[in-house]
Amino acid sequence: MRVGSGFDVHGFGPGDHIMLGGVRIPHSHGVVAHSDGDVLLHALCDALLGAAGLGDIGQHFKDTDPRWRGADSSGFVTAVLGMLAKLHLQVVNADLTLIAQAPRLAPHRDAIRACIAQLLQVEGARVNLKATTTEGLGFLGRVEGIAAQAVVLLSDGAQR
Ligand code: MG
Repeated sequence: MRVGSGFDVHGFGPGDHIMLGGVRIPHSHGVVAHSDGDVLLHALCDALLGAAGLGDIGQHFKDTDPRWRGADSSGFVTAVLGMLAKLHLQVVNADLTLIAQAPRLAPHRDAIRACIAQLLQVEGARVNLKATTTEGLGFLGRVEGIAAQAVVLLSDGAQR
């Protein structure tokens, strides 16, 4: 078994929606990012890469590469899963936390969870999605941006 963790932040900027876990969420702001700025999927990619000992998302999908401008981050997850498959690593479960004052996660939780489970090719019960505010504290509390954490467990087929 291998465990990995990931963390990501994006600042709010002009726009009318944000992408969270592959789902388009209408919002008063967008996020500033080279790709689509999906913090949940970026944290998830880092957790998957971390568990596999494959570095981080920035090494594989550079934020200066024009190929990834405005990129759908679902493609990053799929590409990372391909890397894991070569190492015979499979996702056991993923636990994600959105850290944001806004937008509210609750109305979108089921859709995001289903989308992430589909991306990871696991049943929905193996993906958990939590949300917290920072009680108004710090840059997240001032609604300057949005953050996410992810923890994943991978199986390498051996009990260790
Ligand atoms: Mg990011």
